[in-house]
Amino acid sequence: MIAAILVMAIGAVLLGAALGYAAIKFKVEGDPLVEKIDAILPQTQCGQCGYPGCKPYAEAIAKGDAEINCCPPGGEEGIKKLADLLGREFKELSGEHGIEKPKSVAFIDEQTCIGCTLCIQACPVDAIVGAAKQMHTIIASQCTGCELCLPPCPVNCITMEPITENVETWKWKYPVFPLHPAGTTH
Ligand code: SF4
Ligand code: SF4
Ligand code: SF4
Repeated sequence: MIAAILVMAIGAVLLGAALGYAAIKFKVEGDPLVEKIDAILPQTQCGQCGYPGCKPYAEAIAKGDAEINCCPPGGEEGIKKLADLLGREFKELSGEHGIEKPKSVAFIDEQTCIGCTLCIQACPVDAIVGAAKQMHTIIASQCTGCELCLPPCPVNCITMEPITENVETWKWKYPVFPLHPAGTTH
């Protein structure tokens, strides 16, 4: 019995050592250039650049597979930052990817919502709460303004509301303190 326990203990130690060695040996380092590019992108995760999110677009830029002017939410300011970082020439925002719009957050007309949950499934950042056949609402502080919840809504009860941009409400990446016209967040 004691021998069996000893064998199991030694086996566990050896396995742990092997896993630790493998973790160090095969550790995948993040690409610092990708991280720097991603830090400039607005993290809206809207896909307008043609990639399934900001990180994949950052990776494509770093590889030289994508132009720096394909992100409408980042706009001209974002393109300038990317051009500075990468030593590339500034280009106007590529029209085929969309236009630069004021920073906005989504708002659900809760009286009209039928609780189909399609918007929840479309939201890439879990900014919508609700349950089947219950009204849904947006957590404004989480909403990146990507507009991906608009097309699936069968009753068109989601609208985008521009947020006031000033030193208190503006943040480059996320609209953290969006102001509703009534002075409340949704
Ligand atoms: S268009 Fe810009 S904000 Fe949207 S996913 Fe691409 S990089 Fe991110
Ligand atoms: S609530 Fe709509 S606009 Fe806001 S992040 Fe989610 S999908 Fe995008
Ligand atoms: S998609 Fe529209 S109707 Fe369906 S839950 Fe979302 S807001 Fe309500």
